[in-house]
Amino acid sequence: MRKIQMVDTKTQYLAIKDQVDAAIHEVLDSAAYINGKAVRDFAQNLGTYLGIEHVIPCANGTDALQIAMMALDLQPGDEVITPSFTYIATTEVVALLKLKPVFVDVDPVTYCMDIESLKKAITPKTKAIVPVHLYGQAAPMEEIMAIAQAHNLYVIEDNAQAIGCDYTFSDGTKKKTGTIGHIGATSFYPSKNLGAFGDGGALFTNDKALAHKMAMIANHGQSERYYHDVVGCNSRLDSIQAAILNIKLTHLDEYSKARQSVANYYSTAFAGIEQILTPATGKHSTHVFHQYTMQLKKVDREKFIAHLSAKEIPCMIYYPVPGHLQKMFGDQNNQHWHLPVTDALTPCVCSLPIHTEMDAEQLAYIVEGVKSFFN
Ligand SMILES: *Cc1c(COP(=O)(O)O)cnc(C)c1O
Repeated sequence: MRKIQMVDTKTQYLAIKDQVDAAIHEVLDSAAYINGKAVRDFAQNLGTYLGIEHVIPCANGTDALQIAMMALDLQPGDEVITPSFTYIATTEVVALLKLKPVFVDVDPVTYCMDIESLKKAITPKTKAIVPVHLYGQAAPMEEIMAIAQAHNLYVIEDNAQAIGCDYTFSDGTKKKTGTIGHIGATSFYPSKNLGAFGDGGALFTNDKALAHKMAMIANHGQSERYYHDVVGCNSRLDSIQAAILNIKLTHLDEYSKARQSVANYYSTAFAGIEQILTPATGKHSTHVFHQYTMQLKKVDREKFIAHLSAKEIPCMIYYPVPGHLQKMFGDQNNQHWHLPVTDALTPCVCSLPIHTEMDAEQLAYIVEGVKSFFN
């Protein structure tokens, strides 16, 4: 049996090696390493795939979130509402820009932003909402957009874990996650569903003025060569990464299906185990399973992990410390956040290996390994 890994980017590469190697060589031959044709082609192809007007590539997903917030002209002290139950990048950039992260709770089933908690968090200082499509399924975007509209707030979707996911509105309209808010931000970190062979990220929007501004910010605030109108940063996607992503984008839907079938296999196998709550898909969203995250009920999680580890089955905790308890937020920690779902989920979530290259033998072995803990 092949060694089981949380992600297996090597085997995925080998399956498309000829295509990828040829694309990389094309960039090498062109010597257009920065802002080459591959970057423009990828932006265009991704825009077409997502059904969005503007795609602005940048250096990574964290930069994408930062550039989005910089483009909205938020002032120090303005409040940005985000879940605490997410990867640190979502909330870190809020603090980096001297804005105030306001943490809200998540839904215990979908792990995405809780609407009641969002409503309660809105104050006159609130300027933006950053929902996260955590683990690969959509936050309740229809409700979030309605609340944002009623309070005149911006919505920046953190789509780093959900590229390819479809959200269905109550009137039947379908949109890709990342294209519903004013701005979508994503990451092409190698282990993401659409992963480069290095860092990468992108911003999406249908707003022409915002697109222009974000492209400027990502390029030193430059409007014309050597004319810098606003303070920006330097955040570029390499041509080589773009060329690789261009190939992988053509496989994205097939990758999502492979992930869904792994998830389906696990959930079917664990259906009879009372102590495992398998991940559920909300009815408005598909799920592209960036992670397969289950909840362990009345289980000693340390023992469970040690049991799997002895069988060389890796698993991970995403994330062991929620944002509102991270030291980096200093003063804000004193604010007695009331996030009961986040606090209850943190000690009981556990993510199993899930990627596009898992074979039947590995899956059967993992399921046996998990089941044997409960026997
Ligand atoms: C990965 C990730 C990011 C950051 O992306 P990088 O490319 O690593 O900077 C942001 N938000 C979420 C939810 C992520 O999973």
